[in-house]
Amino acid sequence: MCPPFADNRQSANIALMSTLSFWGAAGTVTGSKYLIESEHGRVLIDCGLFQGLKELRLRNWEEPPFNAAAVNAVIITHAHIDHTGYLPRFVRHGFRGPVYCSRGTAELMKILLPDAARLQEEEADYRNRHKITKHLPALPLYTEEDAREALKLLQVVPNTGEQVRVVKGFTAEFRIAGHILGSSQVLVHVEGAEPRSVLFSGDLGKYDQPIIRDPETPPACDYLVVESTYGNRLHDVERPKEALERIIKDAAAHGSAVLIPAFAVGRAQEIVYFIRELENEKRIPVLPVCVDSPMAAAATQAYARRTEEQDDEYAKALKTNPTPLRTHSMLACSTRQDSKKINGMEGARIIISASGMMNGGRILHHALRLLPDENATVVFVGYQAAGTTGRRISDGEKQVKILGQWVPVRCKLEKIGGFSAHADWKEVVRWLEGMPAPPKKVFITHGEPEAATAMAAHLRERFGWTIEVPQYGEKFDLA
Ligand SMILES: [Zn+2]
Repeated sequence: MCPPFADNRQSANIALMSTLSFWGAAGTVTGSKYLIESEHGRVLIDCGLFQGLKELRLRNWEEPPFNAAAVNAVIITHAHIDHTGYLPRFVRHGFRGPVYCSRGTAELMKILLPDAARLQEEEADYRNRHKITKHLPALPLYTEEDAREALKLLQVVPNTGEQVRVVKGFTAEFRIAGHILGSSQVLVHVEGAEPRSVLFSGDLGKYDQPIIRDPETPPACDYLVVESTYGNRLHDVERPKEALERIIKDAAAHGSAVLIPAFAVGRAQEIVYFIRELENEKRIPVLPVCVDSPMAAAATQAYARRTEEQDDEYAKALKTNPTPLRTHSMLACSTRQDSKKINGMEGARIIISASGMMNGGRILHHALRLLPDENATVVFVGYQAAGTTGRRISDGEKQVKILGQWVPVRCKLEKIGGFSAHADWKEVVRWLEGMPAPPKKVFITHGEPEAATAMAAHLRERFGWTIEVPQYGEKFDLA
């Protein structure tokens, strides 16, 4: 069943009016998928995996809500799995078109997608071996092979605002969004009797963060789709570097472990960068820092290669130190053996591992050991989506289920908001203040319901614009 355009003839008759529909990141922060249909064809913006709540994750397993084979192209705003992680499954369902993204995004997708597949294969395998599955045998959503098939479709485009042809009837412009390496805001031009343009903010970065550049000023558009992850919150006033200094000093004084669940891409590099700076400035002692994520190690190399996305501060740091993304005593774990070595370590140490929301990956094995340790500290440095283990712990639950076991949470908990890769609502307003003309309509996405509603209120109040908060599956005419 493919409701939106199961019948191509029917859709050709009615498709004179272009439409935009929302198949993810509506009422949630995951599963980003926005479909534009015009008289010429169909383009999907982002192809993200649902994460977190089970009712959302189940959508990854259902038939896609539209016919994958009838989509002509996919545009990717950035490499994070909640924007790309459904692509291998989408290809399995018959999608064969080009996938457009920036060079930085392509490099990171080559790291992230096979890894996402491996994690799913490993988890299915673990569940089968430990018989903790309701479905025998437990299957992965897709395999590494599927991920490699999807990567063959990538077409790299500049992230500099140049107009590129996507498919007949569609062009697009990619500009830096300042969220992670390669992240783009994308302006899609829909050609036809009544041409329209739609700007997708993608995930919008914060201003003045280290390493990568600030978001570019948004171009004028007819319609705007803007994220609202922090639509109801402002980042902490305590600067992230100072917070990190305080926590690391405390761990050094008590000889205890610091566990930092971090997205392997973006967050992990930023944390290492700050630890290195704190060490150089002699504000903290040099502790062993274990980055237990092969993906983070590979992403770090991509960050070092893509000089065109680096900001001035990082370029300056590179002049005095060719490896600002390494601390003075760093162990980057690529193999499982390396990872196991960390288990034998005692004393003050810092472990950075993925996934950032503790919903999979090697972090789970460290969590099993360290959550019950009242001397250890778990430091949340990124957004924790509803339904994830990270969210449960940060909400104060006293025991959580990890890899099929109940684990008591006795460790200390810290949250450093300033590390978020997302603009908070004031920064989204700041970004939109640069927009040359008001859009006809604004769609608020990529936020939990309270955040999206709050963002809508902030934008109405500041700009007086017409605003919608779309529901899952809702379709709008681009009139
Ligand atoms: Zn993201």
